[in-house]
Amino acid sequence: MARDADGFPVTRSAGGVRRGAAGSRELAVLDERISGCRACPRLVAWREEVAEVKRASFRDEEYWGRPVPGLGPADARIAVVGLAPAAHGGNRTGRVFTGDRSGDWIFAALWRAGLANQPTSVHRDDGLQLTDVRVCAAVRCAPPANAPTPQERDTCSPWLARELALLPRLRVVLVLGGFGWTALWPVLAEAGVPLPRPRPAFGHGVEVPLTGPNGPLTLLGSYHVSQQNTFTGVLTEPMLDAVLTRATELASS
Ligand code: SF4
Repeated sequence: MARDADGFPVTRSAGGVRRGAAGSRELAVLDERISGCRACPRLVAWREEVAEVKRASFRDEEYWGRPVPGLGPADARIAVVGLAPAAHGGNRTGRVFTGDRSGDWIFAALWRAGLANQPTSVHRDDGLQLTDVRVCAAVRCAPPANAPTPQERDTCSPWLARELALLPRLRVVLVLGGFGWTALWPVLAEAGVPLPRPRPAFGHGVEVPLTGPNGPLTLLGSYHVSQQNTFTGVLTEPMLDAVLTRATELASS
């Protein structure tokens, strides 16, 4: 696999994503391959343009400008799946949900739930450590207007499928928002998980009991931690805490 100037292995097509994901035997390899992915031309152009132009308040920082891999240990029993990195959040810092308001919400909630060692997530070297949870996204590149196309979602899905497959103790997938909810069904189908018909509609607190490759697996829905939801009160801290408490209960049951 050819490498780019920073040493990351380059993936240039949907087929390359499928092969690269399938051939990743551990999370570190998967993370590296995700970081070098260039399979979606529109998203590659956008993430790199944002990294070049920058927001004025971050003009002295070097943006990551790449796909953003997941964060958290391989023995995690809970996976939290978001939509995609923010242009000046994950696309800037190189760590999922790090450096934006959404991250402030999710990492503070993970800390309150005992799943993170600190309530803040500011940059990649800030000492944040997660326990029993892996945080990732359905699409790994920052999209214009926070809106990936269905084709981009599908192209990126093997990365997520492989990431979940590399969590052998996984018991709960907590999905933030309807986009991730829709994205997850084909990922689960690819993992051989029998799916209910019709598919349960997304909603906050919705639970779908499934049988995963390693036993019981529960899909859990939560409104996304987007500013649109948190500023307007659609999602409150008690609501997010309740769903994370439920996730930890399910993971321990
Ligand atoms: S969105 Fe996913 S598949 Fe597309 S370029 Fe980014 S990492 Fe690759």
